[in-house]
Amino acid sequence: MKPKYGQHFLIDQRVLNRIIGYAGLTKDDTILEIGGGTGNLTLKLKEAAGKVIVIELDRQLAVGLTQITRDSNVTVIQGDALEIPLPGFNKVVANLPYQISSNITFRLLRHSFDHAVLMYQLEFANRMLASPGTPDYSRLSVMAQYFAAIELLETVPPSAFKPQPAVRSAILKLTPREPPYHVNNIGFFEKFLKAVFGQRRKMLRNSLRSATPMLGIAPENLQEVDQRILEMRPESLTPKELAGLANRIQAGT
Ligand code: SAM
Repeated sequence: MKPKYGQHFLIDQRVLNRIIGYAGLTKDDTILEIGGGTGNLTLKLKEAAGKVIVIELDRQLAVGLTQITRDSNVTVIQGDALEIPLPGFNKVVANLPYQISSNITFRLLRHSFDHAVLMYQLEFANRMLASPGTPDYSRLSVMAQYFAAIELLETVPPSAFKPQPAVRSAILKLTPREPPYHVNNIGFFEKFLKAVFGQRRKMLRNSLRSATPMLGIAPENLQEVDQRILEMRPESLTPKELAGLANRIQAGT
Protein backbone atom coordinates (compact mmCIF):
# COMPACT_ATOMS: atom_id res chain seq x y z
CA MET A 1 0.00 0.00 0.00
CA LYS A 2 1.21 3.49 -0.83
CA PRO A 3 1.78 5.43 2.41
CA LYS A 4 -0.68 8.31 2.68
CA TYR A 5 0.58 11.91 2.70
CA GLY A 6 4.11 10.81 1.75
CA GLN A 7 4.62 9.23 5.17
CA HIS A 8 8.11 7.79 4.90
CA PHE A 9 9.61 8.26 8.34
CA LEU A 10 13.34 8.85 8.66
CA ILE A 11 14.68 6.25 11.04
CA ASP A 12 18.45 6.35 10.40
CA GLN A 13 19.83 8.15 13.47
CA ARG A 14 23.07 9.09 11.70
CA VAL A 15 21.17 10.88 8.93
CA LEU A 16 18.91 12.59 11.49
CA ASN A 17 21.95 13.79 13.45
CA ARG A 18 23.66 15.05 10.31
CA ILE A 19 20.54 17.05 9.38
CA ILE A 20 20.70 18.75 12.79
CA GLY A 21 24.41 19.48 12.17
CA TYR A 22 23.81 20.92 8.68
CA ALA A 23 21.12 23.26 10.03
CA GLY A 24 23.64 24.91 12.42
CA LEU A 25 21.03 25.43 15.14
CA THR A 26 21.30 27.71 18.16
CA LYS A 27 18.97 28.54 21.03
CA ASP A 28 18.14 31.81 19.24
CA ASP A 29 16.55 29.93 16.35
CA THR A 30 12.85 29.45 15.64
CA ILE A 31 12.56 26.41 13.41
CA LEU A 32 9.70 25.60 11.09
CA GLU A 33 9.30 21.89 10.43
CA ILE A 34 6.92 20.76 7.69
CA GLY A 35 5.43 17.33 8.40
CA GLY A 36 6.49 16.21 11.87
CA GLY A 37 5.30 12.62 11.40
CA THR A 38 6.13 10.51 14.42
CA GLY A 39 8.54 13.15 15.74
CA ASN A 40 11.90 11.63 14.75
CA LEU A 41 13.27 14.97 13.64
CA THR A 42 11.11 17.13 15.90
CA LEU A 43 12.58 15.61 19.07
CA LYS A 44 16.12 16.39 17.91
CA LEU A 45 15.21 19.90 16.74
CA LYS A 46 13.67 20.58 20.15
CA GLU A 47 17.00 19.92 21.89
CA ALA A 48 19.09 22.08 19.55
CA ALA A 49 16.85 25.09 18.83
CA GLY A 50 15.15 27.79 20.88
CA LYS A 51 11.70 27.13 19.47
CA VAL A 52 10.19 24.62 17.04
CA ILE A 53 6.93 25.06 15.17
CA VAL A 54 5.81 21.89 13.43
CA ILE A 55 2.98 21.68 10.93
CA GLU A 56 1.46 18.22 10.46
CA LEU A 57 -1.49 17.45 8.20
CA ASP A 58 -2.40 14.06 9.64
CA ARG A 59 -4.68 14.61 12.64
CA GLN A 60 -3.62 11.44 14.44
CA LEU A 61 0.08 12.19 14.02
CA ALA A 62 -0.47 15.79 15.15
CA VAL A 63 -2.10 14.50 18.35
CA GLY A 64 0.85 12.16 18.90
CA LEU A 65 3.34 14.99 18.34
CA THR A 66 1.49 17.18 20.84
CA GLN A 67 1.71 14.40 23.42
CA ILE A 68 5.41 13.70 23.02
CA THR A 69 6.38 17.38 23.03
CA ARG A 70 4.08 18.55 25.84
CA ASP A 71 5.52 21.28 28.11
CA SER A 72 8.42 21.96 25.77
CA ASN A 73 9.55 24.54 23.25
CA VAL A 74 7.55 22.82 20.47
CA THR A 75 4.29 24.15 19.03
CA VAL A 76 2.31 21.66 16.96
CA ILE A 77 -0.08 23.00 14.32
CA GLN A 78 -2.44 20.51 12.71
CA GLY A 79 -3.07 21.67 9.15
CA ASP A 80 -1.94 21.78 5.56
CA ALA A 81 1.40 23.54 5.19
CA LEU A 82 0.32 24.71 1.74
CA GLU A 83 -2.80 26.41 3.07
CA ILE A 84 -2.40 27.74 6.59
CA PRO A 85 -0.70 31.10 7.24
CA LEU A 86 2.94 30.33 8.06
CA PRO A 87 4.16 31.45 11.49
CA GLY A 88 7.37 33.46 11.99
CA PHE A 89 10.59 31.41 11.69
CA ASN A 90 14.23 31.93 10.78
CA LYS A 91 15.23 28.41 9.64
CA VAL A 92 13.35 25.52 8.07
CA VAL A 93 14.30 21.89 8.65
CA ALA A 94 12.16 19.13 7.19
CA ASN A 95 11.96 15.74 5.64
CA LEU A 96 9.37 16.92 3.15
CA PRO A 97 6.30 15.01 2.02
CA TYR A 98 7.41 14.58 -1.59
CA GLN A 99 4.07 15.26 -3.24
CA ILE A 100 4.17 18.90 -2.06
CA SER A 101 7.91 19.50 -2.72
CA SER A 102 7.49 22.09 -5.43
CA ASN A 103 4.58 24.04 -3.95
CA ILE A 104 5.97 24.17 -0.42
CA THR A 105 9.45 25.17 -1.62
CA PHE A 106 8.15 28.15 -3.57
CA ARG A 107 5.78 29.04 -0.75
CA LEU A 108 8.70 29.07 1.70
CA LEU A 109 10.85 31.09 -0.70
CA ARG A 110 8.33 33.94 -0.61
CA HIS A 111 9.22 34.34 3.09
CA SER A 112 12.46 35.64 4.44
CA PHE A 113 14.64 33.24 6.46
CA ASP A 114 18.31 32.37 7.02
CA HIS A 115 18.40 28.93 5.40
CA ALA A 116 16.50 25.69 4.97
CA VAL A 117 17.76 22.11 5.20
CA LEU A 118 15.28 19.96 3.31
CA MET A 119 14.97 16.35 2.20
CA TYR A 120 13.64 15.83 -1.35
CA GLN A 121 13.38 12.99 -3.82
CA LEU A 122 16.80 12.78 -5.49
CA GLU A 123 15.32 13.29 -8.94
CA PHE A 124 13.58 16.48 -7.84
CA ALA A 125 16.74 17.69 -6.04
CA ASN A 126 18.77 17.13 -9.20
CA ARG A 127 16.38 19.32 -11.15
CA MET A 128 16.65 22.08 -8.54
CA LEU A 129 20.45 21.96 -8.75
CA ALA A 130 20.82 21.56 -12.53
CA SER A 131 22.99 23.78 -14.73
CA PRO A 132 22.38 24.85 -18.34
CA GLY A 133 23.16 22.24 -20.96
CA THR A 134 22.23 19.28 -18.77
CA PRO A 135 19.12 17.09 -19.12
CA ASP A 136 17.84 18.07 -15.66
CA TYR A 137 17.96 21.82 -16.41
CA SER A 138 14.36 22.98 -16.28
CA ARG A 139 11.90 25.63 -15.16
CA LEU A 140 12.39 24.32 -11.62
CA SER A 141 16.20 24.87 -11.76
CA VAL A 142 15.83 28.43 -13.02
CA MET A 143 13.12 29.43 -10.55
CA ALA A 144 14.67 27.80 -7.48
CA GLN A 145 18.12 29.26 -8.25
CA TYR A 146 16.57 32.68 -8.80
CA PHE A 147 15.42 32.80 -5.18
CA ALA A 148 18.16 30.86 -3.38
CA ALA A 149 21.65 29.42 -3.48
CA ILE A 150 21.21 25.66 -3.48
CA GLU A 151 23.70 23.12 -2.21
CA LEU A 152 23.60 19.32 -2.23
CA LEU A 153 24.51 18.08 1.26
CA GLU A 154 24.11 14.33 0.79
CA THR A 155 22.08 11.65 -0.94
CA VAL A 156 20.10 9.23 1.21
CA PRO A 157 19.20 5.62 0.38
CA PRO A 158 15.66 4.20 0.78
CA SER A 159 16.90 2.08 3.73
CA ALA A 160 17.07 5.23 5.91
CA PHE A 161 13.25 5.39 5.94
CA LYS A 162 10.36 3.30 7.19
CA PRO A 163 8.45 2.37 5.10
CA GLN A 164 11.12 2.56 2.43
CA PRO A 165 10.36 4.78 -0.57
CA ALA A 166 10.98 3.43 -4.08
CA VAL A 167 13.57 6.10 -4.87
CA ARG A 168 16.67 7.72 -3.43
CA SER A 169 16.45 11.02 -1.59
CA ALA A 170 18.73 14.01 -1.17
CA ILE A 171 19.28 16.67 1.46
CA LEU A 172 19.63 20.21 0.13
CA LYS A 173 20.50 23.49 1.78
CA LEU A 174 18.63 26.48 0.41
CA THR A 175 19.97 29.92 1.29
CA PRO A 176 17.74 32.78 0.11
CA ARG A 177 19.72 35.73 -1.27
CA GLU A 178 19.31 38.70 -3.62
CA PRO A 179 18.44 37.35 -7.09
CA PRO A 180 21.62 37.25 -9.21
CA TYR A 181 19.98 38.99 -12.20
CA HIS A 182 17.01 41.23 -12.89
CA VAL A 183 13.54 40.00 -13.78
CA ASN A 184 10.99 42.71 -14.67
CA ASN A 185 7.92 40.66 -13.85
CA ILE A 186 8.27 37.36 -12.01
CA GLY A 187 4.76 36.17 -13.00
CA PHE A 188 5.56 36.70 -16.68
CA PHE A 189 8.97 35.01 -16.29
CA GLU A 190 7.28 31.91 -14.81
CA LYS A 191 4.85 31.69 -17.72
CA PHE A 192 7.71 32.24 -20.17
CA LEU A 193 9.72 29.39 -18.59
CA LYS A 194 6.67 27.12 -18.69
CA ALA A 195 6.24 27.86 -22.40
CA VAL A 196 9.86 27.29 -23.39
CA PHE A 197 10.72 24.32 -21.16
CA GLY A 198 7.31 22.78 -21.89
CA GLN A 199 8.70 22.16 -25.39
CA ARG A 200 12.38 21.93 -24.53
CA ARG A 201 13.46 20.24 -27.79
CA LYS A 202 12.01 23.08 -29.86
CA MET A 203 13.70 26.29 -30.90
CA LEU A 204 12.64 29.18 -28.71
CA ARG A 205 11.04 30.91 -31.70
CA ASN A 206 8.60 28.06 -32.24
CA SER A 207 7.58 27.55 -28.64
CA LEU A 208 7.25 31.30 -28.06
CA ARG A 209 5.22 31.84 -31.22
CA SER A 210 2.60 29.35 -30.12
CA ALA A 211 2.65 30.78 -26.58
CA THR A 212 2.00 34.45 -27.40
CA PRO A 213 -1.71 34.32 -26.40
CA MET A 214 -0.86 32.59 -23.12
CA LEU A 215 1.90 35.14 -22.47
CA GLY A 216 -0.38 38.04 -23.41
CA ILE A 217 2.12 39.54 -25.86
CA ALA A 218 1.89 40.53 -29.52
CA PRO A 219 3.63 38.15 -31.97
CA GLU A 220 5.53 41.21 -33.27
CA ASN A 221 7.37 41.42 -29.96
CA LEU A 222 9.36 38.39 -31.12
CA GLN A 223 10.66 40.35 -34.13
CA GLU A 224 12.25 42.91 -31.87
CA VAL A 225 14.80 40.63 -30.20
CA ASP A 226 18.10 39.12 -31.41
CA GLN A 227 16.94 36.43 -33.85
CA ARG A 228 19.98 34.21 -33.14
CA ILE A 229 18.76 33.69 -29.58
CA LEU A 230 15.37 32.55 -30.87
CA GLU A 231 17.08 29.80 -32.86
CA MET A 232 18.43 28.23 -29.67
CA ARG A 233 16.81 25.75 -27.35
CA PRO A 234 15.98 26.81 -23.79
CA GLU A 235 18.45 24.37 -22.23
CA SER A 236 21.43 26.14 -23.83
CA LEU A 237 20.66 29.53 -22.27
CA THR A 238 21.73 30.53 -18.77
CA PRO A 239 19.03 31.71 -16.33
CA LYS A 240 20.28 35.27 -16.82
CA GLU A 241 19.99 34.98 -20.61
CA LEU A 242 16.48 33.54 -20.30
CA ALA A 243 15.50 36.41 -18.01
CA GLY A 244 16.95 38.96 -20.42
CA LEU A 245 14.92 37.46 -23.26
CA ALA A 246 11.72 37.34 -21.17
CA ASN A 247 12.20 40.98 -20.11
CA ARG A 248 12.66 42.07 -23.73
CA ILE A 249 9.78 40.16 -25.28
CA GLN A 250 7.42 41.34 -22.59
CA ALA A 251 8.45 44.94 -23.16
CA GLY A 252 8.44 44.47 -26.94
CA THR A 253 11.93 46.00 -27.30
N1 SAM B 1 9.51 14.42 9.93
C1 SAM B 1 9.13 13.03 9.92
C2 SAM B 1 10.36 12.15 9.72
O1 SAM B 1 11.37 12.70 9.23
O2 SAM B 1 10.31 10.97 10.05
C3 SAM B 1 8.05 12.72 8.88
C4 SAM B 1 8.44 12.96 7.44
S1 SAM B 1 7.29 12.30 6.27
C5 SAM B 1 8.32 12.20 4.84
C6 SAM B 1 6.29 13.69 5.82
C7 SAM B 1 5.21 14.11 6.83
O3 SAM B 1 4.49 15.22 6.27
C8 SAM B 1 4.16 13.06 7.13
O4 SAM B 1 4.03 12.92 8.51
C9 SAM B 1 2.85 13.60 6.52
O5 SAM B 1 1.70 13.26 7.26
C10 SAM B 1 3.10 15.11 6.56
N2 SAM B 1 2.39 15.87 5.53
C11 SAM B 1 2.02 15.47 4.28
N3 SAM B 1 1.44 16.46 3.60
C12 SAM B 1 1.45 17.55 4.43
C13 SAM B 1 0.99 18.90 4.30
N4 SAM B 1 0.40 19.32 3.19
N5 SAM B 1 1.18 19.74 5.36
C14 SAM B 1 1.77 19.31 6.49
N6 SAM B 1 2.22 18.04 6.68
C15 SAM B 1 2.07 17.18 5.65
